[in-house]
Order: sequence, then structure tokens, then C-alpha cells
Amino acid sequence: MSISQIARDLKESPTLAMNEAARLLKEKGEAVIHLGAGEPKTKVPLDAILSSAAKLTTAEIRYTPTEGIPSLIKAIIRYTEENYGKTVGPKNIIVSNGAKHSLYNIMLTILNPQDEVIIIAPYWVSYPDIVKMVYGVPVIVTPEDGSFYPKMDDIVQKVGSYTKAIIINSPNNPSGVVYSEDFIREIVEFCEKKGIYLIMDDIYHKLIFDGKKAPSCYKFAKDDSDASRLIVINGVSKLYAMTGFRVGWTIANKKIIKAMINVQGQNSSCVSVVLQAAAAGALNGIQSDVDNLRLILENNRNVMMNELNAFTGIRTVKPDGTFYCLPDFRAYEKNSAKLAKFLLEKALVVTVPGGEFGMEGHLRLSYCGTIKDIMTGIARIKWALDPESPNEIYIGDRKMRRDWK
Ligand code: PMP
Repeated sequence: MSISQIARDLKESPTLAMNEAARLLKEKGEAVIHLGAGEPKTKVPLDAILSSAAKLTTAEIRYTPTEGIPSLIKAIIRYTEENYGKTVGPKNIIVSNGAKHSLYNIMLTILNPQDEVIIIAPYWVSYPDIVKMVYGVPVIVTPEDGSFYPKMDDIVQKVGSYTKAIIINSPNNPSGVVYSEDFIREIVEFCEKKGIYLIMDDIYHKLIFDGKKAPSCYKFAKDDSDASRLIVINGVSKLYAMTGFRVGWTIANKKIIKAMINVQGQNSSCVSVVLQAAAAGALNGIQSDVDNLRLILENNRNVMMNELNAFTGIRTVKPDGTFYCLPDFRAYEKNSAKLAKFLLEKALVVTVPGGEFGMEGHLRLSYCGTIKDIMTGIARIKWALDPESPNEIYIGDRKMRRDWK
């Protein structure tokens, strides 16, 4: 069978393989704990449900304009004004099937084959593959000092004549760190000066703790014209716990959006009107669900940090946002895929190997589940790895004995 070069180059996601292994174990009745999840567990806001249900009951569910329904576009304009202090018009916006689809369509719109896109490690797993899928070349920048905070010098060194774009994701999946206002100012000014597209993946921008706020990139952008290369991605998946609704959007200059509408017109048309109505409902509705989610996650983050800080040998950067952290497990095992597999087999805990995010030796742990899951999950990992721990524990109703070194 003939399979395209691109499809062959995309490797099977070890995360999906782990999830499948965990599902099979769960099916067998094993007490698996999931610290690998990438979605909040809170309920979808009622305003989103009512708004989509109202649309559904009209029994007239048709195509919409490719860029999105006017009520959602209006809601996005208001959202951008409120959260970014930036006034945009309807021609600056396109709604896509999730932020991942936004990103893919942006790449299709701006990249030519062999154009390079700078991606900062640790990075969201999908970035390199999305770039490759449109024949672009991902260029990974790993902070030299081993931190999760990029330095302009490291980035500048990788910029060359083929550099077309830089992707910034802050708050960051997988590390949870929030880049400093100084860094955001520097990168915005640098990209403007060099004529490089700056893609801000802001999907977690309101899930920030301790009263902190994400700096708005627009604050530092001097070019407000149709030549601006600043592109901002957002969506309802994370903030509103609406991952299953598949609604994301892009804000950019009118020329980019017009070209993106042509691209999306041929690869998916519009987002389902029922789901757009849900997103408009979420954006226009009571925002307390976002605040509640943020508070739950902040509390979970604190519990996770307490547990990890008491874990000898593990080094963790305290996350300021998202629902992930990326502890360094190299004191126990350098190969993160091997470690994640071992922890699933021996301790029945799902984690995500840091290697997938460009940070070998680390594991991404999610704290979007219950406090009990966090505490039991970390206790089990500790039991499996730390020879100082008691050699037996109960996992579910099974007594497990550590018989490895
Ligand atoms: N960007 C980042 C950094 C993400 O973590 C995710 C979801 N895991 C996305 C984009 C995609 O979100 P969506 O569900 O809107 O496609």
C-alpha cells in the first residue's frame, strides 16, 4: 500500500499508546490513576449548553460563513477588548475547529516549503508535526541554561534567512511556566523588526495563579497596520472546559485572515453552527466558571507541589498557570518513555514522557483531576522509584510488592 511521505513521517504518539494501555488496564478493573490528562474535568458552562441547545432546537442546522457566525465574532471582539485591551474588527477574526485547526491553517497560510518555524522547548507536542505537515521545517530552541524560560539570545542564534515564524505558548504546555513581560516585549519587538510572524498560542492565558496575569502581546506591538505579523490563537477548550466542542479562533491582520478563510473554505468550511453557538454562549455568559476552574487548579497545583517537594531527587519548577508541571526525574531514570511505561506497569499511574515535549528525563504530570488522584498518584510513583519507601503498598485492593531495584 502506498502511504504518503508526510503520513509516514508522522510518528505514532506515545501518549496515545500510553492512554490505550491505560484504558485496557482500566477495562480489566485495575485501579489506574491518570496524571496524563490534557483537559479540565469541570462541567461545561450552562450558558454554553443553553445557547447550543437553543440553536439545535431550531432544527435548522446549516453551513455558516467560513469565518464564523456574527454572534460569535462579536463575542470574540469583546473578549479581545476585555482581556487584551485590543480593539479588533470582524475582518481580523476566523473561527476554526479548535486551536489546533487554527494553528494548522495558519501554517498552511504563511509557510512555503522549507520555511523554518522556531519552536521553544519544552513545547506542545503537536507544533513540530503541524509544521512538517505543510512542508515547513521546525527549528527547536532549547534554553541553554536548562530552565523552561527562553532567552532572546538562544532564539536569535537560530534565526536565519529561512525563518518565517516563531511560536510562543505562555502559559506553557507542558511546563506551566508563564513567560515574563520583558520577554514578551523583546520577542514582539524582535519579530516586528525582522518581519517574522509571531504566533502567540494563548489557549491557557486566563488559567494563571496567585493573582498574576499574562502580559498582552499587543501592549508592545507598534505596528497596528495590515502589515502586522502578530497572530494570536485562542479557544474555549481549556478555559471553559469545552475540549469536546472544538472551537478555536485566530486574530490577525485582514490580509492573513482573508487568506486563511480561503484555506479553511477548502479544508473544512465552517465550524458546526451548534458548536459556534455554544462558544458564543460561553464567552457571553457568566464568567464565574473560568474563575472557579482557575481556583480549583491553583489549589491542585499547590497540592502537587507539596507532594513533589517532599519527593527526594525530583526537581520541579513551580508552575504559574495551566494544569501541568514538568518535574525532572533524571535522578531516577533518564529515558522518559521508559520511565512512563515502567510507572504505568508497576504503579498503574499514567504520565506523559517529557521527551515528547523536547525535555528528555522529565515527565509531564497533570493536576486537573482530583486531589485524591494527585496524592495517591505521586505516592505510588514515589513507592515505585524511591528505595527508601516501604516495599509494599495497596493499589486498589491488591497488595503490591517492590521486587525491582
Ligand atoms: N495549544 C496548546 C498549547 C494546547 O495544549 C492545546 C490542547 N492540548 C491546543 C493548542 C489545542 O487546543 P484545541 O482543543 O482548541 O484544539
